[in-house]
Amino acid sequence: MGSGAFPHQLEREVVAALQDLMGRHALDRVMRMAALDGTQTLARLGVALEDLYGVDEEQALMRQAGRRVLKSLWQDWTVGRIGLRFQDLLPAAIALDWDLLILSEMFNRSWPQSVQLERLPTGYLWRMRACPFCQGRYGTRPLGGGMQGVLEGLLQIAHATSFTVRERACIALGHRVCEFEIEK
Ligand SMILES: [Zn+2]
Repeated sequence: MGSGAFPHQLEREVVAALQDLMGRHALDRVMRMAALDGTQTLARLGVALEDLYGVDEEQALMRQAGRRVLKSLWQDWTVGRIGLRFQDLLPAAIALDWDLLILSEMFNRSWPQSVQLERLPTGYLWRMRACPFCQGRYGTRPLGGGMQGVLEGLLQIAHATSFTVRERACIALGHRVCEFEIEK
């Protein structure tokens, strides 16, 4: 399978999660469709999945994959996370603050200055200029199911399960950024 063609770890983790969900055979077929010019992106993979299964199924798959990704990525965030074991003693909202910052740093390492995090009275706003799931795609609905899943996975880890994630603006709809609202 051509997961090596994805430059960033996050992308490779999404592909691995998709393989778990779909099985190797089905994913190989999608990967062949997606590899139009030898370079892979999650957005391109999303287009191929959409062509095969329709946009709703594609978004559901990406969302599930996104949720799984965070669990495996988290092991690598030892610098950010192990030092913060004490956070188990902190209120969930403060733990979530830290976790969102760590996650945004991680995205910004792979896609420089892509994430802008804003705290709202009711939660957070996660803005992505270069959303790896949506950039280069066009749709009639937001297409950041994968990113939504990643954020949902984080809420689960931070035990902030009273929050919900909604993509309220999307590059695929012609907006300047993808905007995810993390709301209580
Ligand atoms: Zn989007």
